[in-house]
Amino acid sequence: MDTIFRDYSNVSDAVKENYLLARTNQTVEFVDKMVKKYSTFDKKIKIWDILDSLNTLIDVSDPDMSLPNIEHAYQTAEKIRQDGHPDWMQLVGLIHDMGKIMYLKGTDETGTGKKKQWAMVGDTFIVGCKLPDTLIFPEYNKYHLDKDNPLYNTELGIYKEGCGLDNVKCSWGHDEYLYRILMDSRNSNTLPEEALYIIRFHSLYAYHDKKSYNKFMSEKDKQMINYLTLFNQYDLYSKSDICIDKNQVRLYYNRLIEKYFKNSYLYI
Ligand code: FE
Ligand code: FE
Repeated sequence: MDTIFRDYSNVSDAVKENYLLARTNQTVEFVDKMVKKYSTFDKKIKIWDILDSLNTLIDVSDPDMSLPNIEHAYQTAEKIRQDGHPDWMQLVGLIHDMGKIMYLKGTDETGTGKKKQWAMVGDTFIVGCKLPDTLIFPEYNKYHLDKDNPLYNTELGIYKEGCGLDNVKCSWGHDEYLYRILMDSRNSNTLPEEALYIIRFHSLYAYHDKKSYNKFMSEKDKQMINYLTLFNQYDLYSKSDICIDKNQVRLYYNRLIEKYFKNSYLYI
C-alpha cells in the first residue's frame, strides 16, 4: 500500500499543540518582532555546520518523519537529482530547511527552541488578513489573536489584490528566515530567483497546495508557483526512514555549494 503523507487525523499531541500555538500567537505584531530579532546576521557559521547541526533537531510538526532533519535534506536533494532536475534545485533540496538553525538563537517561549517550535516549523499562513479554513486544523483559527482586529480579519486585510506574495507577511518560520539570510549582502550567492521562491514559500501549503491565496498573486507568482508544486513532491515524497550514505554524496553537494555560494559560511 502506498504511504500517505500529511495525514493529520491520527497525529501526536505535540503536533497538534505546535499548530494550536502557531495559530494563536502568530500575529502581525509577533511576525514583525521576529523579523527584527532575526535580521542581525551576526553569527558566522559554516554551511556544513548548519546542515550537521540539524542532525540534532527533530521537527515536532512533521507527522511523516522521525529522523533528524539532515536525513530529510539528503533524501530530498538526492531524489531531485535522480529525476534529472537542475543542480540549483538539487541544492535547494539540500538546504531548504536550513532556516531551522534559528533554534541556536531561539527560545522555547517564542516557539523557536528545541522543544517548542511553533514559530519555526509547520505550515505557514499569511497574517494581516482572514485565515482560510483550508489550513490544517481549521478549528484552531478561532484562537488566532488577530481575529477580532477589523484591520486584519477581512478577506484582503492589509493587502491589495494582486499585490504579490513578496509583499505579504507570512507567519514566522524557517522559510522566511533562510530567505532573509540568503538575501543579505553578507551572504553573497548566485541562487536563481526560483530557488529563493521555493525556500521562502515551501511551507505555505494554503497557497501552493490549497490555492487559497490566489487573490494576492502577481504575474511573477503565476510563473513561480509551478516550481513550488514541483518541489513539494520531493519535500514530501522523498521521506522514508532509510538513511542515505552521506559520505558518498557529500563531495557532490560540496561542489554545488562552491558553485552557488561565494563563501563556505553564512551569517545567520
Ligand atoms: Fe521546510
Ligand atoms: Fe523539508
